[in-house]
Amino acid sequence: MQKTAVSIVRRLVEAGHQAVFAGGCVRDHLMGKEPKDYDIATSARPDEVQRLFPKSFAVGAHFGVILVREGQHSFEIATFRNDGEYADGRRPESVTFTTAEEDAHRRDFTVNGLFYDPINDEVLDYVGGRQDLARQVLRAIGDPRKRFEEDHLRLLRAVRFATVLGFEIEPGTWAAMLEMAPKITSISAERIREELSRILLHPNRVRGFDLLVSSGLMASVLPEILVLQGCEQPPQFHPEGDVFIHTRIMLGLLPEQVSLSLVWSVLLHDIAKPATFSRDPDGRIRFNGHDKLGAEMAEEILRRLKYPNDVIEPTVEAVANHMVFKDVQKMRISRLKRFMARPGFEDEMELHRVDCQSSNGFSDNYDFIRQKQEEFGHDPLPLIPKPLINGHELMSLGIPKGPQVGELLTAVQNLQLEGVLTSSEEAMAWVKENWKSTP
Ligand code: ATP
Ligand code: MG
Repeated sequence: MQKTAVSIVRRLVEAGHQAVFAGGCVRDHLMGKEPKDYDIATSARPDEVQRLFPKSFAVGAHFGVILVREGQHSFEIATFRNDGEYADGRRPESVTFTTAEEDAHRRDFTVNGLFYDPINDEVLDYVGGRQDLARQVLRAIGDPRKRFEEDHLRLLRAVRFATVLGFEIEPGTWAAMLEMAPKITSISAERIREELSRILLHPNRVRGFDLLVSSGLMASVLPEILVLQGCEQPPQFHPEGDVFIHTRIMLGLLPEQVSLSLVWSVLLHDIAKPATFSRDPDGRIRFNGHDKLGAEMAEEILRRLKYPNDVIEPTVEAVANHMVFKDVQKMRISRLKRFMARPGFEDEMELHRVDCQSSNGFSDNYDFIRQKQEEFGHDPLPLIPKPLINGHELMSLGIPKGPQVGELLTAVQNLQLEGVLTSSEEAMAWVKENWKSTP
């Protein structure tokens, strides 16, 4: 991919233009990381770029961005520009094509404002980005207040880059963030969601979580999390402290790679504890129904953030079921098998593991399930096997259409899961006997 990017730069340079790598790819390259894409910035105007690359199309014509496809990769070629006035805190009203230096100054952070000329192996640094990169500092380019005022998304981008790069936020930049944080609400839910997802998916997510809280951004994008602060829990089960502390510890116990629904289920599993808090006359703290209400709240929060159903559904299911784990050792085999066979169960196991590890330290239910998984041989055998009989077969025995058919099918499946019935013949015989005996 890098080779192709260099050849694109060369083609532009040979046609008499200036052309360089820009932004994230320069930063990543200088940090010794493999860039995930190469953005090219050039003095060539968009129509000129399109003339040189016939297999291209204008994606952001207004911004002078042309997308060039070469092989399996796409490259954004953007004409050096200077963003005009920002009217709405989201995007500039107009852009003017300009020099590399001015283009560097429209970018958000110094470490994102670097260019690299791959032909002469030369870094072009108009913003002090190299020094900040070496010192691991995230600093807004120019006046931070003005820069966050222009585009409020930069507030969340700052947290994201500080998290992903592991950089400190420069004090002036941080002070401006504290001041501006409430303005994040002018940004669309979709763009907030994308930044949150990238923060939460990164192994450094606890730092991201802390920065969201301390910057004041959490109060605007996820105020429910702050309500967990000071929500007292029974100390015999939760020596670690309140629900906020418990949740934060859990985030830190997750593996590096997680699914979005796992990390969201960790954040939201106890989200309804403040709302369901009660104290018995003897002083004992309870959170009756916090799982059920929590599932409703989780759904509402994730819908508000415009997450797709394939993230929302498993998260809500995990929150709704996280208390069921305490019963697994007492369950009938059929119920246990159904519980374990649900999609997303492995993520729920992980939620349960970190839930225990960050509080009482018990692992007996977790170990019990792992042992049952061995025993049931779930792989390759499905936990929920093909039914021994179906509704038609039941009705052929003379059982009338109606709720009883479903009840009998469930009863047969329970006995099948428990190993009592093992063949269709046994199942039919059982039905004949038991159906006749019911009036
Ligand atoms: P990554 O792609 O790894 O998330 P990146 O630095 O490439 O990081 P992009 O969002 O792809 O980030 O943006 C590419 C470059 O465009 C950035 O490096 C930055 O120079 C500039 N940029 C992007 N978004 C903004 C913004 N909201 N304000 C100012 N400059 C921005
Ligand atoms: Mg990028």
